[in-house]
Amino acid sequence: MVEAEKKNIENVIILGSGPAGLAAALYAARAELNPLVLTGTEIGGQAATTHIIENYPGFPDGVGGSELADLFTKNAEKFGARFEYDLATEVDLSERPYKVKTYGKEFLTKTLIITTGASPNKLNVPGEKELIGRGVSYCATCDGWFFKGKKVAVVGGGDSALEEGIFLTRYASSVTIIHRRDELRAGALLEKRAKNNPKISFIWDTVVEEIQGEDAVTGLRLKNKKTGENNGLDVDGVFIFIGHKPNTSLFTDVLDHDEAGYLVIDDKMQTSKKGVFAAGEVADSRFRQVVTSAGMGAAAAIEAGRLLESEEE
Ligand code: NAP
Repeated sequence: MVEAEKKNIENVIILGSGPAGLAAALYAARAELNPLVLTGTEIGGQAATTHIIENYPGFPDGVGGSELADLFTKNAEKFGARFEYDLATEVDLSERPYKVKTYGKEFLTKTLIITTGASPNKLNVPGEKELIGRGVSYCATCDGWFFKGKKVAVVGGGDSALEEGIFLTRYASSVTIIHRRDELRAGALLEKRAKNNPKISFIWDTVVEEIQGEDAVTGLRLKNKKTGENNGLDVDGVFIFIGHKPNTSLFTDVLDHDEAGYLVIDDKMQTSKKGVFAAGEVADSRFRQVVTSAGMGAAAAIEAGRLLESEEE
């Protein structure tokens, strides 16, 4: 434990640096709370891995996910938010000030804003774990380039599957979208774009039962859910976009959460502990947009400020 840090009690620590965390940092900084952001492993969160964001207001031509994250960061820094490029490994919420540990440090804080986001779901089929980084991917922006002129499959029927599938057509010779039903979950605009793309084809009512390959992905074993028929599909890569689970492992025993693990918050963005707020995908299974996450982050910072102010009176 570092004594100097222990004595210093922060007003607000923000865990995570996706849109929610960075917006919280901006608002807390402008409220002169001198916030500290523990960024986690990737600045910008999932949004930063998105090739282009077309529905964040103010960018009629779209904006790159990492560019937007960079702009959010600069904006928060400009008003004095402090960033530690570190990961929280333990939190003690038994009493205030709350304790937050990282690998090398320990901090005390009057309030905490949890914006740890969500992580992609896994298919949990044979071959998936073994071939991650060797043809199995959860990020088209990160790995699409490796599949120039190659055949890839995308698993899922939501907005992510279609958006990323369309992005992959820049590189891949063909993109086969495999969906477990015969109707997409994705919005109409993306559906239209995907269906009009000559490189994209769909396999309906089908699940992946195995990802095949020794050193790299060579194919998939598929099962049609309606007919029970098994088929093979030769591909060089498979991109999996089947939703997310919230990153709450540090809090599952101490904060209320719903059945799917999302943190439960009240209308002041506060979790079941006083002074512990949550924003963005870690507490939102419904909207999960950059704009809604940023809005939640701003609201959490406003409420953290109001709580601190009320306690000073
Ligand atoms: P999602 O909307 O939850 O869709 C997940 C898809 O994966 C669904 O089609 C689901 O099938 C399928 N799936 C789930 N588990 C599966 C499994 N074990 N095996 C096979 N398929 C499985 O997730 P998302 O696409 O990541 O989107 C998350 C949120 O972000 C949504 O609110 C979405 O609107 C938003 N988003 C928006 C944009 C945009 O606006 N441009 C872009 C990306 C994401 P079923 O349909 O049968 O359930």
